[in-house]
Formats: sequence, C-alpha cells, structure tokens
Amino acid sequence: MTTAAVTEDYVCQGNQRKYYRFRADRFYGGIATADCMGCNMDCAFCWSYRTRLHPEQFGRFYKPIEVARRLVNIAHEHDFRGVRISGNEPTLCKQHLLEVIKAVGELDPDLLFMLETNGIKLGEDETFPEELSRYSNVHVRLSFKTGTAANFELITGRPKEWFELQLRAVEHLHAKRVSFHVAIVADYAHEYLIERLRAVSPGIVERIEYEHLQLYPHVRQRMKERGLVS
Ligand code: SF4
Repeated sequence: MTTAAVTEDYVCQGNQRKYYRFRADRFYGGIATADCMGCNMDCAFCWSYRTRLHPEQFGRFYKPIEVARRLVNIAHEHDFRGVRISGNEPTLCKQHLLEVIKAVGELDPDLLFMLETNGIKLGEDETFPEELSRYSNVHVRLSFKTGTAANFELITGRPKEWFELQLRAVEHLHAKRVSFHVAIVADYAHEYLIERLRAVSPGIVERIEYEHLQLYPHVRQRMKERGLVS
C-alpha cells in the first residue's frame, strides 16, 4: 500500500508554514480559509492530495502574522465570524499554528478560529491540547476517518494503532476543557467508535457531526485503487 506523507520537513521552516491559497469559503455559514500543505495521513478519499504530496510545486512559506492578517482581512471583507486553516493538516507545524491563533485573537477577539484536524498530533502530544486551552477563540473539529481500527490502515495509509491516537486526542481535549466536537465520515461510521466516545463523555456523542464524502473523479480513482469502491 502507498503510505505517502508530507510532513514537517517539507512544509515547516522555523515558525513559517507553506500555504497555497487564501479564500472566502461557504462552510460554517462563511469562513475565511487559508489552505496549507502537508499531512501525516494519506486518506484514500483526500480531495487535496495533489498539494499534499507535492508541496514543492505550489505556494510559499508564510509567517504566522502574515497568515493571521490575511485571514482577518478576508473575514472582515465578507462579514464572516470565523477563520480556519484547511486544505491539509493544520497541526503539523505546532508553533506556527499557535502563533496564528494568538495573532488572530489579537487582531480581532470576536473571530472564532476553527481548528479542523485529524487529531493525531493532539493525541501524541498532551501539551498540545493544553496549549490550545489557553485560547478562548478556538474550537476544534476532530475528524475520524473510520469508526474502527480494523480498516484504519486501508483508509488512512497509517498503522491501525493510530486509531487510538485519535481517541487519545478526544480524551486530552475533554480533560483540558477545550471547545471541540467530533466529526465522523458517515460511510465508515461504526458503533464501536460511538461507544468509545460515550465512555469519555456522553455529551461528545450528542454533538457528533457526520461528514459525507464528495466522490470527485480523482477521489473515486484513489478509493478504487485501495479496493474501497468498485
Ligand atoms: S487527514 Fe485530511 S488532509 Fe490528511 S490525508 Fe486525510 S483527508 Fe487528507
């Protein structure tokens, strides 16, 4: 199986991170979005795999304050109440991310920073959720790609043990009282995950968001290569 990943070595330089696009997007009722590059997973249905796997071909490195200013400007131009880093995995360059969150809060304390993540880094590093808990402008959306460890490797290209890292991230976020909710890819949801989440806190289950896959042609092709669709 292909297990390609582009991690910090390629997309982080000191406290700078590589981005390929800044835009206004329609999600969450309208949100300013910075599209970063690089991810520690390799999901079969990842819509942004080209920029993820070939960061040398796109974008440039930005300082945290540059990213924050661009996001805040877009939010103000469109009267949005939120900003986010999307495209790939925002938690890869930890110091950069924390500085962007801080700068956004200083530029406009009323803007919400939506942190969309696969949670691996938050599960590996207990200090990460603790540091996030210091910012009142952050809400974490932790996305589970599947509901059991059994097909985790096939879907994400990563060892099945990483499934537990996502659950550990949930435990850390809950323990540190970070505002968060869990999203689950509906096609691969499983009662096992629901029960594990309920064991952390029943309230987490009540707030689950079910995510529906967009089967763009290039996504379908990659899923086909892994035997996930015919
Ligand atoms: S976690 Fe997100 S960005 Fe990373 S490979 Fe999976 S879908 Fe793509």
